[in-house]
Amino acid sequence: MELRDTPEEAVFRAELRAWLDASLPEARRGGRGGAERFDDAFGREWSRKLHDAGYAGLTWPTEYGGAGAPYSFQAIFYEEMARAQAPAHVGVIGLGMAGPTIMAHGTDEQKQAHLAKILSAEEIWCQGFSEPGAGSDLAAARTRAERRDDVYVVNGQKVWSSFAHIADYCILITLSDPDAPRYRGLTYLIVDMHAPGVEVRPLRQITGEAEFNEIFFSDVEVPVSNRLGEEGQGWQVAMTTLLHERGTLGFALTAALEVGVSRLVEVARERANDDSSLRQRVASEWIELQALRFTNYRALGTYQRSGVPGPEGSGVKLRWSEANQRLTKLARELRGPEGILDDGWWNHQQLRSRGNTIEAGTSEVLRNIIAERVLGLPRSR
Ligand SMILES: Cc1cc2nc3c(=O)[nH]c(=O)nc-3n(C[C@H](O)[C@H](O)[C@H](O)COP(=O)(O)OP(=O)(O)OC[C@H]3O[C@@H](n4cnc5c(N)ncnc54)[C@H](O)[C@@H]3O)c2cc1C
Repeated sequence: MELRDTPEEAVFRAELRAWLDASLPEARRGGRGGAERFDDAFGREWSRKLHDAGYAGLTWPTEYGGAGAPYSFQAIFYEEMARAQAPAHVGVIGLGMAGPTIMAHGTDEQKQAHLAKILSAEEIWCQGFSEPGAGSDLAAARTRAERRDDVYVVNGQKVWSSFAHIADYCILITLSDPDAPRYRGLTYLIVDMHAPGVEVRPLRQITGEAEFNEIFFSDVEVPVSNRLGEEGQGWQVAMTTLLHERGTLGFALTAALEVGVSRLVEVARERANDDSSLRQRVASEWIELQALRFTNYRALGTYQRSGVPGPEGSGVKLRWSEANQRLTKLARELRGPEGILDDGWWNHQQLRSRGNTIEAGTSEVLRNIIAERVLGLPRSR
């Protein structure tokens, strides 16, 4: 694996950096890392700008409106966006999960209807997988989809759905056959979030922001033509979605961590010159960051060779989430009592980091994946 940019990658990186300098208003940089993503008007306008400049769907095939670029370009994009502290495209779920799933399992009509609008942020998507009784164990989903002629009638509840309060469509896991063996009774639907019977209730998090939501479905009619894959094959389709969730995510997470580590070093320079134990802890976080960067390059090598994300993504997600929690805690220690009183960037980061070990696979579940698929240990159940 070549760790330096190729000449083409170097040009892409330089152009992107110049574009970000010219296009991103100063006031929108270095935000708290969450709020901007949920500012609908700015989020959509910024996302459209990214699209117009050709930065949305970099690795998507050109026939679907993407740039058809190698995964290394997507990795560079994440790195430069994080370094500029730029807000992400508001359609992260559409771009990273719904779009790739539609490309893999969708009909021509579904591709035609949605892919271009996901890229241009005309359609915002959310992911309706988790339920009050089904999180890590997705196969336990109980939201019912009953077939009546050419529609499915959907009833049930989803929870923790990021972006649902601004979403136009939802990728939804439903139970279509309660009598089928486990994994075989699920059906994957595309649901119009503006359809009658869909109710979204935002949930306020420890940060004070309402980033995710409950979604209630009461007799929602979903056309059969909105099904992704066959009836009863929702599990297989969902695996495609989850595979892509962790694809090149490691680069985005690690680049964001790099911003945190450099801010931590600034704090340490100001406050901790004579405390060697604190200095060692800061150095450990820097070393962890380098290890994550090189693991990402290894993962990228596998991804480019096989076209399928490898298990490294689970390892990076696990180590990153725990590093981010340690980092924000250390910053607070370094900043002392005054750090607790201000409600700025570090406090927001620390509160938000609590969710990092839960979202996109809890740490326990990721450890199971690594134990079973990387180390070849016996299955946990
Ligand atoms: C910020 C944030 C955003 C999210 N966004 C979305 C979204 O957009 N769409 C969506 O569908 N969901 C979303 N989620 C939900 C997330 O996917 C779930 O919270 C996660 O899958 C865990 O499910 P759960 O909360 O039901 O916990 P549970 O699965 O009930 O787990 C409870 C505890 O048991 C542990 N555990 C569970 N199974 C095992 C096992 N086999 N071995 C060992 N330990 C185990 C878990 O690690 C955890 O500590 C989001 C969550 C967060 C925090």
